[in-house]
Amino acid sequence: MSAKKVIVIGAGFSGLSAACCLAQKGFDVTILEKKNETGGRGRKADVDGFMFDMGPSWYWMPEVFEKFFNRFGKSVADYYSLKRLSPSYRVFFKDEASPLTPLQERGELDIPAEKEKLFALFESLEKGSSKKLEQFLAEAEYKYDKGVNEFVYKPSLSLMEFADVDLLLSLFRLNMFSSFSKYIRKYFSHPKLLQLLEFPVLFLGAKPENTPALYSMMNYADMILGTWYPDGGMYKIAEAMTKLAEELGVKIQTGENVEKINVTNGKVKSVVSNGKEIFADIIISGADYNFTEQQLLDEQYRTYSADYWESRIMSPSALIFYLGVNKKVDNLLHHNLFFDADFSVHATEIYDNPQWPSHPLFYVCCPSKTDAAVAPEGMENLFVLIPVAVGLEDNEATRSTYFDMVMTRLENRTGQKIREHIVYKKAYAHRDFISDYNSFKGNAYGLANTLFQTAVLKPRIKSRNVKNLFFTGQLTVPGPGVPPSIISGQVVAALVEQEFL
Ligand SMILES: Cc1cc2nc3c(=O)[nH]c(=O)nc-3n(C[C@H](O)[C@H](O)[C@H](O)COP(=O)(O)OP(=O)(O)OC[C@H]3O[C@@H](n4cnc5c(N)ncnc54)[C@H](O)[C@@H]3O)c2cc1C
Repeated sequence: MSAKKVIVIGAGFSGLSAACCLAQKGFDVTILEKKNETGGRGRKADVDGFMFDMGPSWYWMPEVFEKFFNRFGKSVADYYSLKRLSPSYRVFFKDEASPLTPLQERGELDIPAEKEKLFALFESLEKGSSKKLEQFLAEAEYKYDKGVNEFVYKPSLSLMEFADVDLLLSLFRLNMFSSFSKYIRKYFSHPKLLQLLEFPVLFLGAKPENTPALYSMMNYADMILGTWYPDGGMYKIAEAMTKLAEELGVKIQTGENVEKINVTNGKVKSVVSNGKEIFADIIISGADYNFTEQQLLDEQYRTYSADYWESRIMSPSALIFYLGVNKKVDNLLHHNLFFDADFSVHATEIYDNPQWPSHPLFYVCCPSKTDAAVAPEGMENLFVLIPVAVGLEDNEATRSTYFDMVMTRLENRTGQKIREHIVYKKAYAHRDFISDYNSFKGNAYGLANTLFQTAVLKPRIKSRNVKNLFFTGQLTVPGPGVPPSIISGQVVAALVEQEFL
């Protein structure tokens, strides 16, 4: 019998992951990718000697990557080398001071990679907090183990998957039903510590009040498992997965824009890409879920209506500046969080009352601090990101206003001129996310991980109305982020295997 033919739409992390798993099981897999390169939101741009990672910059949960490559008898080290960043990152808090004042007094904190130093830092800010941090991280570790080893690998098509007693009992210890924001306040009260603990929640795309306390497991990922960096840049992950896919026999066709999914008698028969019809037995879409259903499928085959999508809470979009600077920039680490603004006001402007933020938090990545290969000698590679609400009007004038705003703060806080040293500048926001990735409302990170958008309450990984149509990626289970997207591909592949092998 000839191998079943699978078409994967999109060569993002989820599509590449699903393709590798199915090729290993003997399926005949083709990826159709709209862009001219793979990696999706994790693509790179090479310009004038700078190598910019277009999207992800935080390499967290390294064992998820290792486990993925191990499935194929490989290891991460076969493709790229990783280093742990130490300190993990720098946080610029609100305090006003001159750049000559020592770090701790200036309101800047370097978050140490070593546990003992981290505990000492907590204790220095709040007496007794190091003991509490120990308990907090023990609970976070339990959640991480349960969450990442058991929950996230479930397809979440039915509550019955969660029906064993052990798992049900654990739901309460996992704090599924209490808010992250309240939970951390039971342990800590110093505003800097609270902000530090709330930061990873930004990755999950919802306000800490609306995020289940389950996600304190992200603090475990941050503080214990650490922040890593692949030599050569985050793009190394996409490059490695692409290479692996090719080694496994996956056919990767770039520059293929899928325009239609053809369904006959409740089954996908073919897709139309660049005007030509391509037949398949199984389709997995790793493109944005909303786009696949609303634009590629005829209405009667969609699982979700336009109203359903309107009622979803999306993770933020982002306004990003990719900057090449012709000198070394002082007082920055590889990762820098500018928390010198009110988080709750910014969060309200993202989620409750969507608008361009009045005084945003922002993030600056300077990978050339770690990696000489990403900028010409003596220069610096900067990636500045402001999280913003989805669906906003995005024009040049707004981009320019925010550029000035963040550069002023960056220059003031680091005590130097940067603007006049910029030799390359590119802004990227909503309309680019839409035109590059068919992103719903210009979202950067998919669907928010709120309680009501977790597990079985997320858009289904398998279509209700089309037998051989599946979904993967950051808008379905388990959620946004590179590790979850890689897991999502593995979960959908297991489901396809179960049904079609
Ligand atoms: C700015 C930014 C920063 C981030 N930072 C981090 C971070 O630091 N750490 C982290 O873990 N995560 C981070 N993330 C999140 C992470 O990058 C994403 O969750 C992940 O890359 C999503 O992968 P995916 O496969 O679901 O989707 P995508 O990467 O969007 O892949 C979907 C693919 O489908 C293709 N496609 C779309 N439509 C079609 C079509 N019609 N035909 C053919 N192909 C199509 C797209 O071109 C794309 O290649 C960040 C994301 C962004 C945008």
